[in-house]
Amino acid sequence: MMNKPEELKEIENEIRKCSKCPLSKTRKLPVSGEGNADAKVILVGLGPGHNEDLQGRPFVGSAGKFLDELLELARLQRKEVYITNVVKCYPPGNAPTEEEIGTCSPYLDRQIEIIKPKIIITLGNIATNYIFKKSGLKSQNMGGIHGKIFQINNLFFQVKIIPMYHPASALYNSEMKEVLREDWKNLNITNGGIEYGRRRED
Ligand code: URA
Repeated sequence: MMNKPEELKEIENEIRKCSKCPLSKTRKLPVSGEGNADAKVILVGLGPGHNEDLQGRPFVGSAGKFLDELLELARLQRKEVYITNVVKCYPPGNAPTEEEIGTCSPYLDRQIEIIKPKIIITLGNIATNYIFKKSGLKSQNMGGIHGKIFQINNLFFQVKIIPMYHPASALYNSEMKEVLREDWKNLNITNGGIEYGRRRED
């Protein structure tokens, strides 16, 4: 039997060879995701941007720099979480089609099944809508749900979903930056799970 890192590697190899949708023709490097195969927390973005396409790694451009700051506010280290996206190849204009999402998202589903996170943090509308739908939740406006915890219990899986604004949405908007900083500062992920709104003691 393969262990978790091997299973994730297997998916990465499949993604590298993937030509199931038109994005595979325009990508430079696919971005399957990276981080801890045993992560308690998975972050799901939309898809690689230009810098990610060149480097083959998620969130390494300007949105990634801001995400690093947010992770620090939540006292999370990049190496303890797993970071990936709904689509694995650069969607020009950051706007994958429904069909591209449908074709690519089984890779994300499998990554989640392997890692079995306790918490899924969705970054932005597309990732949030995708994970909400998958979990049987109705899609909602980000304005009313950002930073909130949605507990999902089914027979096979228990997970908390926490929708967040996409870090890129705040890059040129200092008010939005503050909203994001507050949401992430209030995340209090402890060994036992997560508390919200109460900072961990230093
Ligand atoms: N934006 C995303 O949604 N994902 C990345 O990996 C980078 C930027």
